[in-house]
Amino acid sequence: MSEFAEIPARARPMAAWPASTTAVAGVVGFPVRHSLSPLLQNAAFAAMGLDWSYLAFEVAPGSLDRAVAGAAALGLRGLSVTMPHKDAAARLATRRSRQVRRLGAANTLTFDAGTIFAESCDGAGLLDDLRVGAGFDPAGQRCGVIGAGGAGRAAVLALAEAGAEEIVIVNRTVAPAWRSAALAPQVVRVGRPADLRGMDLVIQATPVAMVSSGLVGEPAPAERAQPAEPAQSAQLTGPAGSAEEGAAIIAGVDPSWFGAGQLVVDLVYDPPFTPFLLEAQRQGATVRNGLGMLVYQAARQIRLWTGAEPPLSVMWAAVSDRSPAVAHGTATGPAKSSSFESSSFEPIDGTREPD
Ligand code: NAP
Repeated sequence: MSEFAEIPARARPMAAWPASTTAVAGVVGFPVRHSLSPLLQNAAFAAMGLDWSYLAFEVAPGSLDRAVAGAAALGLRGLSVTMPHKDAAARLATRRSRQVRRLGAANTLTFDAGTIFAESCDGAGLLDDLRVGAGFDPAGQRCGVIGAGGAGRAAVLALAEAGAEEIVIVNRTVAPAWRSAALAPQVVRVGRPADLRGMDLVIQATPVAMVSSGLVGEPAPAERAQPAEPAQSAQLTGPAGSAEEGAAIIAGVDPSWFGAGQLVVDLVYDPPFTPFLLEAQRQGATVRNGLGMLVYQAARQIRLWTGAEPPLSVMWAAVSDRSPAVAHGTATGPAKSSSFESSSFEPIDGTREPD
């Protein structure tokens, strides 16, 4: 139930807004009730002084065509698109960006004078977050990507275009991994889990541990069933040896392989710190969750729809208020062991533009 729903109808503040002039945008997905996008986008529109409103629409799988036709007929200005509709969104559009044509997926639709323009802001949002948030430039770096779905593919294409020296994809099944590798065969290869051990950057791009997915990772191997040393992050990992600890291994990749000098990013942001990320951090890796990517891709959507510059600091504040434990900054420079109270989680100056 929303906070607003808890206020008796008669006690709700009456206002002349939204008005008949209000421009409407929204997010379509299934499920979508967990989405932070309305918080992010409405905070930005309000701070920008725009008469825009952003809603969440739960659209059942297979129904995107009807939802998009309805949105166009109702005069919506834009839609964010999330699972499981990104491929369908690319197909339904009347115009597609180069990125969308290569990925076969879109996370943004813009309605304009009878046309529907499809864009993918995921990869660019990820790069913004790596560069601005984490101080990490992928050019010349060795990168690993776990997962070969929509987010994994967007990450691979973005890293390749940003000049990564090598990209290794590890996925639960092989066929999607090959499809992802085909995006940039000159630098991308399909690898084994252990190939990710020495990577400069590892991106976890599966929904494992995401609250709304109901997925957990793989059972811990017998040698890891011993209780772990208490860590600074223990209050968030739960008791040592718990189910969460066993959930840390994903597609055969064990986060205890990582350590100092490596940046590990989990695209999941709910929970703010997955067992995968917590274990990597415990081993000394610099870690970052998916919130930054979410904020930066939302900022790109707002630029597309309104032509105006969104206030990134306001957007960060909106989601941090909702989830105070969420990191919205990561130490720059060489990765090192970090704690929740110290350098890893200092707020960044969200108003800076990517390089
Ligand atoms: P997707 O298209 O459904 O792809 C899912 C991927 O995860 C596939 O490679 C799949 O492997 C793998 N996978 C699923 N369950 C698994 C399991 N139990 N063990 C190992 N691998 C598993 O999903 P997506 O759109 O790429 O999204 C992936 C995650 O990224 C989601 O959590 C999503 O919320 C997040 N995301 C975050 C942002 C952000 O802004 N932070 C943006 C986009 C996505 P198979 O190919 O073998 O099925």
